Amino acid sequence: LNVNNAEFIRSAAKAADFPRDRLPQVVFAGRSNVGKSSVINRLLNRKNFARVGSAPGKTTHINYFLIDKKLYLVDLPGYGYAKVSQAEKARWGRLIESWFADTSLMTLGILIVDSRHKPTADDCTMARWFQESGRPYAVVANKLDKLKKSEIEPNLQRIRETLEMGEDGIVIPFSAEKGEGRGELLALIVAHLEE
Ligand code: GDP
Repeated sequence: LNVNNAEFIRSAAKAADFPRDRLPQVVFAGRSNVGKSSVINRLLNRKNFARVGSAPGKTTHINYFLIDKKLYLVDLPGYGYAKVSQAEKARWGRLIESWFADTSLMTLGILIVDSRHKPTADDCTMARWFQESGRPYAVVANKLDKLKKSEIEPNLQRIRETLEMGEDGIVIPFSAEKGEGRGELLALIVAHLEE
């Protein structure tokens, strides 16, 4: 998979705008500021492809990127930003719900959480969306570089337990900053494309 061949396709605000051309879709979710854009940029070897630090609260669009003409990387809007209005939250909910209404093209879900913290209630809700989709999903525990070595294992275990992932669930320790975990994430995506 040539990740350097990546192009922005569109920003979708409603179900009618979702691409439906049978290409596999790898979907990324996470709360605002967890580093979702940074993880995507690291994965694609880009500096500013997905916009880092873009105004939180831009919660109502799903961005589609085409990777190597083989798959869509789907960037779901971040959630959990405190300053977002009720109306905006409701719109987020409807958009996500309409996206998950048809997961037949979802090859793999990626939920990004902050490795420093216990997953939030919103993270648990998102994990449930993925679980209930019946499609494979994995968790990326980002900002690993901010942990002391002794904190890594207990924190990963806490993530696993809080998200009720079970023994087989995949948690990838990741640092968008340092690049740790990139190979594992890429290999996981490629493995699911070949199924
Ligand atoms: P998004 O809102 O989830 O797309 O988050 P961004 O990608 O914009 O990142 C939010 C902030 O976290 C930015 O200041 C990033 O530089 C920082 N950040 C993202 N990933 C990492 C990481 O792995 N390590 C560290 N130390 N900072 C990170």
